[in-house]
Amino acid sequence: MKTANEPTHRIAELTLGALKKIGLPANPRNYEVWYAHIEGRNPALSRELQKSMDAYGKVSQGDADTLYKQFIQHADLSRDVVDLVTRFQTEITDLHSLIEESGESAHENSEALTDLSDQLRQTTEDYPAVSALLENVITVAKDMRNQNQTLESRLAESTDEISKLQRNVESIQAEAMKDPLTGVANRASFDAELSKQIVYAHGANEPLALILADIDHFKKFNDQYGHQTGDQVLRLVAEVMNANVKGQDLLARYGGEEFAIVLPQTTIDNAQMLADRIRKAVESRRLKKRRTDEDLGVITMSMGVAAYRKSDTKDAIIERSDMCLYAAKDRGRNQVVTEIDLNRPKSPSKSDVA
Ligand code: GH3
Ligand code: MG
Ligand code: MG
Repeated sequence: MKTANEPTHRIAELTLGALKKIGLPANPRNYEVWYAHIEGRNPALSRELQKSMDAYGKVSQGDADTLYKQFIQHADLSRDVVDLVTRFQTEITDLHSLIEESGESAHENSEALTDLSDQLRQTTEDYPAVSALLENVITVAKDMRNQNQTLESRLAESTDEISKLQRNVESIQAEAMKDPLTGVANRASFDAELSKQIVYAHGANEPLALILADIDHFKKFNDQYGHQTGDQVLRLVAEVMNANVKGQDLLARYGGEEFAIVLPQTTIDNAQMLADRIRKAVESRRLKKRRTDEDLGVITMSMGVAAYRKSDTKDAIIERSDMCLYAAKDRGRNQVVTEIDLNRPKSPSKSDVA
C-alpha cells in the first residue's frame, strides 16, 4: 500500500483501522509494523505481510512478531549496512547454487563421456585419431569439473565470511545502543524509543508515561568511597531497576547517575506505583564492598513522573519529568513526585505511613 503523501494522522487512522480489521491488538509493536506498511516506507516488510494475507487472509500474532523482529527492531542504526550485507549474501548464495548445479552437470557429462569413450574405443581401434580426439574432450570435461569444485569451495568460504560479517554488524549495532558501564540502553536508544512511543501514543490515543530517576547525594558517595566503587553502585542500581522493568518498557541510562524509564500504554498512577516500587527496592539494598566487606550504607533515589499530553514533543515530556524530579529533590529526596503531586502541597507519601 503506497500512500507516502498521506498526512500522518491519516496514516495513524488507517493503521488502527487495518489492525482492527485483521483482529490484532493495537499495541506499539503491531502499530509500528502496520504503520510502516501503510506508509509504504518498507517494501520488503509489505511484501512479507502481503504474502501472509494472500495465503491465510490474515496475519497471526506470531507472524506479526516475526515481522517486527525482522524489519523494525534491528532496523534503526546501520540499517543500510545490514541491508547491503544481506543483499550480498543472497547474491553469493544464488551464485553458489548455480555453480553447484553446473558442477554436477559437468560431473555427469564427464561420466557420460567416459562411458561413450569406452564403447567407442572398441569400435574405433582402426581410427586412432578419433579416439585421441575423444580422450581430449574427456580431459577438458574433467578439468572443468575440477575447476568448478575449487570455485565451489572458495564460494563456500566466502559465504561463511559473509555470515560472520553479518553477525558482527548485528552485534556492533546492538552494542551501539547499550551503555557500556551498566549494560542497559543508552541515551541514544532512549531518545529513539521515546520518539517512537510518542508517535504511537498520539496515533493510537494511548497513555504514555516517563520516569526520570536520579541517585541522591551521589557526589558525596563518590568522594567518600572513590569513583570505582561509585561505578559498581551504578551497575547495581541499574540491575535493581531492570529487575522491575518488564515487557515493552525501556530502562535507559540517561546521564551520569540518572536513569529514565519509558512506559508505553501506562497511566501516570501505574507509573507512580512502579517508580515507588523501584525506589523501595533500591533503598532496601545494604551496600557492601565485595573484597573488604566494608559497609557502604544505603543509596536512595528521587524520581519524577510525567504523562504524555496530546501534541507533546519529546523535550516537553522530558522537561515535565525533570521538574517533578527537581521537586522530589527539593521535598527531601528519596521520593517520587508526579505531575499531579506537583500542583498539590507536600503530603506524607504512602511509604511514610507504615
Ligand atoms: P543530588 O542528590 O542533588 O542528585 O546530588 P548528587 O551529588 O547526586 O548530584 P550532582 O549532580 O551534584 O553530582 C552527580 C555526581 O554523580 C557527580 C559524579 O561524582 C557522580 N557521577 C556521575 N556519573 C558517574 C559515573 O559514571 N561514575 C561514578 N562513579 N560517578 C558518577
Ligand atoms: Mg544525583
Ligand atoms: Mg544528577
